[in-house]
Amino acid sequence: MCQDKLKHTPNVASPLQHDLSHGPCEPKRNINHSLFVEIFAGTAGLTAAVRKVGLHASVGVDSSVSAKCKAPVIRLDLRQEHAQTLLWQILNRPNLIGVHLAPPCGTASRAREIVRKKGPSPRPLRSERYPDGFPWLRGVNRDRVASANLLYDIAGKVVAHCLRMKIVVSVENPARSHFWATSHFSKHLQGLKDHLFQTFFHHCMHGSRRRKHTLLLHNCPQLCKLAILCDGSHTHEQWGYNKTWATSLETAYPPLLCKRYADLLCQHLQAAGYECLPNELGEDTAITGHNNKHSQIGADKQPRGKKIPPLVSEFQRVVTLTGPSNLVPHAPKFASDWKIPTMVRCSDSHLTVVPAHARVLKSHIYGGGDRKLKDTMSSSHDHSSPENIREISVGIQWSPHDFVTRALAKEHPKAP
Ligand SMILES: [Zn+2]
Repeated sequence: MCQDKLKHTPNVASPLQHDLSHGPCEPKRNINHSLFVEIFAGTAGLTAAVRKVGLHASVGVDSSVSAKCKAPVIRLDLRQEHAQTLLWQILNRPNLIGVHLAPPCGTASRAREIVRKKGPSPRPLRSERYPDGFPWLRGVNRDRVASANLLYDIAGKVVAHCLRMKIVVSVENPARSHFWATSHFSKHLQGLKDHLFQTFFHHCMHGSRRRKHTLLLHNCPQLCKLAILCDGSHTHEQWGYNKTWATSLETAYPPLLCKRYADLLCQHLQAAGYECLPNELGEDTAITGHNNKHSQIGADKQPRGKKIPPLVSEFQRVVTLTGPSNLVPHAPKFASDWKIPTMVRCSDSHLTVVPAHARVLKSHIYGGGDRKLKDTMSSSHDHSSPENIREISVGIQWSPHDFVTRALAKEHPKAP
């Protein structure tokens, strides 16, 4: 069932299989505090599903966190170096048992190759010959591709890390996405491909209304059971453009797919000696084959997940610095610790040094007409009025240790 182009059976122990060595007489370990991380989580439907089967400490990671999130999501823009450091802090936690990644596929999508009958069509930015992006791209498109490539590089590193650490890992993208062929992702898997399964499936067989063809690359044998291709026994909603691109509506996983993934992960952990919650998913989510009568369950018919507010911001706090333009930093980032000069006022009077890696979130210059602000400055310092006043909002990063401690300890399980 598992359409494994790479190799039908990985030639290494299954992830966590080494844990079986603890022997059958020893008590089973509870998965309550085991950590599953969903990277590029979006609304974190998968995180919510694995939390329901007992992995209560699990979190999503994404650059944006919306009110629609179904589970705690740590806001990290992984294009930023500091955010990458924080991610690795999380991935090096001893209780990490699984990682799922869904790298953004906007620039790598084959949907860009479809020409609309009316209106503007998106232009392809990559091809089979140039999966890393056309060399002639310029401007915004070149920046978008470079930005995506950076994330693909991180995805490759994370997958390789998990394989080496024998942690469950899965990465998802459309089956024909150029993502798979980018050097940024694939270079990290050289010599490791024998450890991976390729599982292809159509979303319509897992609760979606559209026939989205997806590839899951992973090292968990149980997840091969997701390999169900459309049996043609139902109708599909159309792709294309109707006020918005249908592809953008299909980025969130159908709830049924999330539940099945969580159920299979749970089975895997049970086999590795973990005690999971009783399978509350029941027959509704059982994968019985191509004629699964539940494959047509639409997203709006699924039980709604309990909404959990976003977790921890990327910044410990945000302060405002106001002062003469020539004294207030102009760079978007503080490369090193910066002592606040006496002429510059900080909204937190206790803060004397802006630590390295702090980021400027907003910047505004008040010119000669802004008397009020300039007067305020003049009254508090016995100096002549400066020509221009610069006010910047600065996000101060967590230290990696504090961030991870807070992010992973804060939202611990209330009983489901
Ligand atoms: Zn179908």
